[in-house]
Amino acid sequence: MRRLLGGARTDLSAAAIRNWSAYGGEECPRCGAFTGSNLLRTTPSSCPSCAACPPFDFARSLFVYGGCVREGIRAAKYGRRPVAAEALGERLFEAIRGKWSDRFPDAYRPTVIPVPIRPMKYFHRGFNLPALVGRALAALAGWPYSPLLLRRSGGDSPQAGLRLDAREENVREAFRVPAGARMPACVLLLDDVYTSGATAAACARALKTAGAGHIVVLTAARAVL
Ligand SMILES: [Zn+2]
Repeated sequence: MRRLLGGARTDLSAAAIRNWSAYGGEECPRCGAFTGSNLLRTTPSSCPSCAACPPFDFARSLFVYGGCVREGIRAAKYGRRPVAAEALGERLFEAIRGKWSDRFPDAYRPTVIPVPIRPMKYFHRGFNLPALVGRALAALAGWPYSPLLLRRSGGDSPQAGLRLDAREENVREAFRVPAGARMPACVLLLDDVYTSGATAAACARALKTAGAGHIVVLTAARAVL
């Protein structure tokens, strides 16, 4: 019960989310790791995420997952407050048209596909935050939105409770594309938080296997490991 009520007083208004500070330092050109962060122990030339050759073309995240951002995203998810989604979609769209415009030219028209949550989690929570953020972003950008093109099977453990080295194993077979689905060539995979990259990689593999050609991963926040 405490978990459900957690963060009930956290301010998730659009005005509050507009005040969240976007990460302003250098990022790994490929996986988007926050390489300029004082908190990060890696350098661009030795990005551990890229050493594993992630199966997507590039990834970007807007906020460091900490402080009011971490509190806000947790309050939205665990406190069942989907209201944060619209403002998060706006912040991502603003970055796409602003700081990331070199990677997102006007002619780029991906299909937005949110990372799905486990069915039981959806049943309890009543919504999937990445799906709502993705819908808001797609509406602002005028991009296609396909929330049902990627499915998550039950049975895997919640990633948040696992050690980093167990996360990849946990989600390796967790995602699938329905048989016969028409996969767009260009996909923007949207999630709320990028932690180990295991979820993004597992989703990207499933999408590639189903025929996606170009995959960009976009997350609201990124954990600094
Ligand atoms: Zn990298």
